[in-house]
Amino acid sequence: MTELASPPIREREGLAQIRHWIGGESVPGASGRSGPVYNPATGEQSGAVDFASVEEVARAVAAAKAAFPAWRATSLSRKSEIYFRIRKLLDEHREDLARLLTLEHGKVLSDALGEVARGIEVIEFACGIPHLLKGAFTEQASSGIDVYSIRQPLGVVAGITPFNFPAMVPMWMWGPALACGNTFVLKPSEKDPSASILTAELLKEAGVPDDVFNVVHGDKVAVDALLEHPDVSALSFVGSTPIARYIYETGTKHGKRVQALGGAKNHMIVLPDADIEMAADAAVGAAYGSAGERCMAISQVVAVGDAGDALVAAIKERLPRIKVGSGLDEGVEMGPLVTREHRDKVAGYIEGAAGQGATVVADGRETAPKGDGFFLGVSLLDDVTPEMDAYKDEIFGPVLGVTRVGTYDDAVKLVNENPYGNGTAIFTRDGGVARQFQFEVEAGMVGINVPIPVPVAYYSFGGWKASLFGDTHIYGPEGINFYTRGKVVTSRWPDPATSQVDLGFPQTR
Ligand code: NAD
Repeated sequence: MTELASPPIREREGLAQIRHWIGGESVPGASGRSGPVYNPATGEQSGAVDFASVEEVARAVAAAKAAFPAWRATSLSRKSEIYFRIRKLLDEHREDLARLLTLEHGKVLSDALGEVARGIEVIEFACGIPHLLKGAFTEQASSGIDVYSIRQPLGVVAGITPFNFPAMVPMWMWGPALACGNTFVLKPSEKDPSASILTAELLKEAGVPDDVFNVVHGDKVAVDALLEHPDVSALSFVGSTPIARYIYETGTKHGKRVQALGGAKNHMIVLPDADIEMAADAAVGAAYGSAGERCMAISQVVAVGDAGDALVAAIKERLPRIKVGSGLDEGVEMGPLVTREHRDKVAGYIEGAAGQGATVVADGRETAPKGDGFFLGVSLLDDVTPEMDAYKDEIFGPVLGVTRVGTYDDAVKLVNENPYGNGTAIFTRDGGVARQFQFEVEAGMVGINVPIPVPVAYYSFGGWKASLFGDTHIYGPEGINFYTRGKVVTSRWPDPATSQVDLGFPQTR
């Protein structure tokens, strides 16, 4: 394993100060503003993250702009070589990254390792950048005329990322963006910012030139500065729907290319012919994994016909076996929520649903581990109807709702009428019904007996409706498209027969 130039944040003494990364080095904030970072398992503040001012963002953008010409001109074989080294270093530091995720986000270590693994897959895809940037060539489009297409980087691009995947979602962005020849400014979530700094250290170690990858921490001030900066060509955003809409509208108004992925309400339809044990296992993993703080979490089961009773019983039976606790402890399957405020908001939905007529089968407020950590146990709400807040809102916590409907058509109507359209899944043994579902359901990612259908790295990830603003999905082939612009060249060369120099070319052909 290689030694890092500076030790990972987690080894620093006392309350960590999490600084910006500009020009290939750690830079302390100068704005005088910062935000607290917590260990959600203990409830204690573990660090303070500097918040960038408009000027500090401008400094990072200027660094990235200065680095662009040389990085753009770096050969594809050299970039690919650097990417193989990035891949190797990320692989060697899986555990370091995962521990940072557990310490600041709260997800259990095995889940954090899974996040890093899925992120590394995007880097592996980007290792093939020479192949991915190949254009098309048409010889003799007209007499003596050839036409060909090339794709070129955009310049300085920015990424604004959410708290729930602090290592993987940035990799969805900088992975393809840098490989395409862009330079990058990342504004990670202020709730769990440290993974970005370790990533920056690893990129430097791998040979990414200083200034090519920069990190500015902060809040709306930093985000607005990126949205308005004339030298930022494109913005990728992943986060909640209201902010995604704002980023899309503001970024495009300032002439930028924008992809803004928003929130979700993912339904899992269970038909009466489904393998109920399989469906219950899937629902439990997809609803409560990472404490439900996944944009692809299943938050709503739709039980069709007489599937409901057996399914609710099978899910209920599994709940006491889910061990909730600190993500670093052996055998723990679900960690705390990211902040105290978020935990309290999620708990409010259990109370609210009961008041609005849902049946509370399991109440996570009663089973939460004691102490100051931001814990909530797992909750199961039956008889949830579309009018209830627990149905309408993205709860983003370990609360699974069950809605009972009469027919397959009723179930599809529910999914299609929902304002979100990120992921959805159907559980059935009937291939014809599954095929019909994939044909008519209005969501960007569909699972057939697969609860969380996150596309592998060589496809692209994205939802429909209020789950994505813009027209390009993220990573995979669409990521390469997003971070490059096309150029088509039409070329004609003088007929060699007319050359003033004797080339030995025959006069007549
Ligand atoms: P968020 O929208 O609160 O924050 C996302 C980013 O936007 C952060 O970097 C934050 O600092 C910034 N931000 C927050 N408020 C802002 C404002 N008023 N102006 C400008 N910038 C602002 O989201 P979150 O709570 O960090 O993440 C959870 C959300 O992200 C959920 O809704 C989840 O579904 C969504 N998400 C979606 C996907 C997807 O692929 N569609 C993936 C992961 C998470």
